[in-house]
Amino acid sequence: MRARSAVRVGVIGGGQLARMMIPAAVELGVELRVFAEAEGMSAALAATHVGDYADAGQLLEFARGVDVVTFDHEHVPQDVLRTVVDAGIAVHPGPDALRYAQDKLRMRERLSELGLPVPDWAAVRTPGELDDFIAAHGGAAVVKTPRGGYDGKGVRVVRGAAEVAEWFATVAEGGGDGALLAEELVDFRRELAQQVARRPSGEIAVWPVVETVQRGGVCSEVIAPAPHSAGRLADVAAQIAVQIAEGLGVTGMLAVELFETTDDRLLVNELAMRPHNSGHWSMDGATTGQFEQHLRAVLDLPLGGTGSLEPWAVMVNVLGGPAEGTLEDRYAEAFAEHPTVKMHNYGKTPRPGRKVGHVTALGAELDDVVYEARAAAAVFQD
Ligand code: ADP
Repeated sequence: MRARSAVRVGVIGGGQLARMMIPAAVELGVELRVFAEAEGMSAALAATHVGDYADAGQLLEFARGVDVVTFDHEHVPQDVLRTVVDAGIAVHPGPDALRYAQDKLRMRERLSELGLPVPDWAAVRTPGELDDFIAAHGGAAVVKTPRGGYDGKGVRVVRGAAEVAEWFATVAEGGGDGALLAEELVDFRRELAQQVARRPSGEIAVWPVVETVQRGGVCSEVIAPAPHSAGRLADVAAQIAVQIAEGLGVTGMLAVELFETTDDRLLVNELAMRPHNSGHWSMDGATTGQFEQHLRAVLDLPLGGTGSLEPWAVMVNVLGGPAEGTLEDRYAEAFAEHPTVKMHNYGKTPRPGRKVGHVTALGAELDDVVYEARAAAAVFQD
């Protein structure tokens, strides 16, 4: 008997974000195909094509086999994306939106034009320009390479331009317009993230704003909702993210990373136009998780409810993994001691600092939920 033909979603990138779209696709009866960078990646459980995403010919061939193309990362070059769009294939988010997630200078420029709150910033082309910016901002600045950074790579706090001399040489050689992004060193109380999903036809779904905790430039914990956020803070965060989703024409998931400053302002730090670490809690903690919502949004289907299932959800990343053996070796201990905690294993080889999984705990008392999630994550890493 011939199988019923399913809607096909193609995901560029084979990491854990593509992997976590698989169960959502199975539930919806959507066929997920992955265009991965290498064999045996995290998302290899789905039908996988291995290729070079910077090769327009290869990507076009893959795209012709699906109904809509979406992403696990933001690295596909603009000209390659435009080749796919020009062939009449749906791409969500499209290149016009994605360019602002690919280049931090363009993002700062556009958000400033839209009147959104961002840290003081400047495009600096020479060490002299950077030293002037530092002098005008209390003797320090955060310098960022506009392209290709992630998990804090390509971000440095400096007190003089000499500390990033080699970055000037690199941006002068290629990529972007030969400038680095300089930002004021924001005095923040904590970091927040606001996630929304937007359909091509315009509907937007908004989750509660969450608190994110970074260690060594990598997200380590997320608390949903952010403590003490009910009311004004939640409203302002939601308004900012909706304005960005609409102003930039984002389709699919959007995560807006925010600083809550010590003088009670919200400033936009970063954008991700795909499911994001700050939204993993929603898989277990909300009516609709971010991976299912992303599929609904890119297929232009009505979006699911975003309400929390319990008062608190805490997600803790499993970083590095066990020094010896596998995550699965620790299942008996973790599951016996923490039966209410949900485990998500990315199927990756443990390595220091690498995100190999996450756990989520839900409950009514924040202290208990934090304790449970941290204790469960600790079983998997030493
Ligand atoms: P990446 O894209 O690599 O995640 P980000 O721009 O998000 O880089 O910066 C990584 C981290 O560096 C942020 O989560 C924050 O902790 C810190 N950071 C970034 N920009 C600033 C800033 N202007 N002021 C203070 N801290 C910053």
